[in-house]
Amino acid sequence: MDQELKSTTRALITKVAIEGSLPVTTPLFQCSAFQTGSSHFYTRKSNPNSEEFENVVKTLEDTAFAISVTTGMSAISLTLDLLEPGDTLVINQDIYGCSFKYFQRLALRRHLKLVILDLSQKENLVKIPDNTSMILFETPTNPFLKTISISDVSIQVKKKNPKALVVVDNTWATPLFQSPTKWGADLSLHSATKYFSGHSDVMGGVILTDRADLHDQLKQDRFFVGCILAPHSAWLLCRSLQTLPLRMREHERVTKDMVRYLKDFSEIQKIYYPEIDGAQLKSYGGIIFFQFRDALKNKYPEFIRNLKLFKTGTGMAAVTSMVAQPFTGSHASMNSEEKYAIGLDEGLVRLCFGFEDPDDLKADLSQAFKAVSESEKLSKQNSVQIQL
Ligand code: PLP
Repeated sequence: MDQELKSTTRALITKVAIEGSLPVTTPLFQCSAFQTGSSHFYTRKSNPNSEEFENVVKTLEDTAFAISVTTGMSAISLTLDLLEPGDTLVINQDIYGCSFKYFQRLALRRHLKLVILDLSQKENLVKIPDNTSMILFETPTNPFLKTISISDVSIQVKKKNPKALVVVDNTWATPLFQSPTKWGADLSLHSATKYFSGHSDVMGGVILTDRADLHDQLKQDRFFVGCILAPHSAWLLCRSLQTLPLRMREHERVTKDMVRYLKDFSEIQKIYYPEIDGAQLKSYGGIIFFQFRDALKNKYPEFIRNLKLFKTGTGMAAVTSMVAQPFTGSHASMNSEEKYAIGLDEGLVRLCFGFEDPDDLKADLSQAFKAVSESEKLSKQNSVQIQL
C-alpha cells in the first residue's frame, strides 16, 4: 500500500469505529492526548473516563466539585500540599497507619507542627490550637470505628481560625452514608480502592469540595504533579459504582446480622461497630473489628489458619470476605509504642464481610473460634504438666 492510501485507510477505520457505534456504556478513552478542538487536551489534565467518574462521585456525595486521583494516599498527599512550612496540622489519633506515618514524615520535612488529638471526645475539642491551618480525620475511624462530629469540629476550629481547612477521610462511610461537606467540612476525600471498587481489582482516590477556589488549586496541582486517575481505572470504577448502592445495602444487612451472631462468642472481648446517629452517619457497611479476650491475644495466626472462606490480607470492602490484623497490616508502619498508645495490640482483628452465603460465613467463623479455644486449653494443660 502506498503511504497516502495507508493513512486514508486508518482515518476511515477510525471514522467508522466512532460514528457507527452507539455503545450503551462509556468506552475506554485509552489515549494520552486529544486533537486540537477537543473538549479535552491531555490526559494528565483531564480525560472523559476520569471526568465521568468525578461526575458520578460528586452526584453521589452531593458536592459541587470532584478531583480524581490515582489512590487514596495521593488524595491525602495532594490535600496536604495545600499546607505551607510552619503551618499547624491537627489529626485524630486513630487513623489509617500509612496516613499517620506520612503526616509524621511530612511534618518533619516541611516543618509543620503536628498535633494529635482524640477528636471523638468532645472535651478535647478545646485543645485544638488557635493557629490550626488544617484538621484532618476519619469518621468512623480506622481501627476503632469511633465517630467524630464533623460539625462540632468545624465550628470549634473555624472559631479559632476562620481560614482553617476541615478535611474528612470519608472512605469507610462512603458518599451514600455520609456527606462531610454538609456538616462543615471543606474537603472530603476517599480511597476509591475500597467500596467504590468493591472487587479488589482497581486503585483510585478522589477529593470532593463545594469550594471553587480549592477545586481550582487542587486541579492545577494535580496537573503539575501528574496524579490524575488513569482512564482504565476510572472506567473500571464507573462500572463498579453502578452497583455501589446495592452492595452497600447488602454489606449493611450482612454485617448487622454477623455482629448479632458474634456478640455471644466467649473468645471475643469486644466488637467494634460504629454508632449510627441517623443524621451525620446514616448507616454503615461491611468492615468491623473485634478484640480477642486477653488469653487469646496471640492466637491470630491460629485463627486464620482455621478459616476457610475468609481471605487474609489488606483488601477490604469487596465482594469477598477478608480477615486482617491491623497491628501487622493496616497499621504496620506505626511503631509498637505508637500502636499501644492508642490501644491497638495484636489481639485486634478486622473482619470484612462480602457476599458469600452468610450461613457459610457463620459456620466458618464458629469452627475457627472453636479451634482457637481448644488450642488455648491444650497449651494450658501442657503448661500445667510442665510445672508438675
Ligand atoms: N484512607 C483510609 C481510611 C484507608 O483505609 C486507606 C487504605 O486502606 C487509605 C486512605 C489509602 O487508600 P489507598 O490504598 O487507595 O491509597
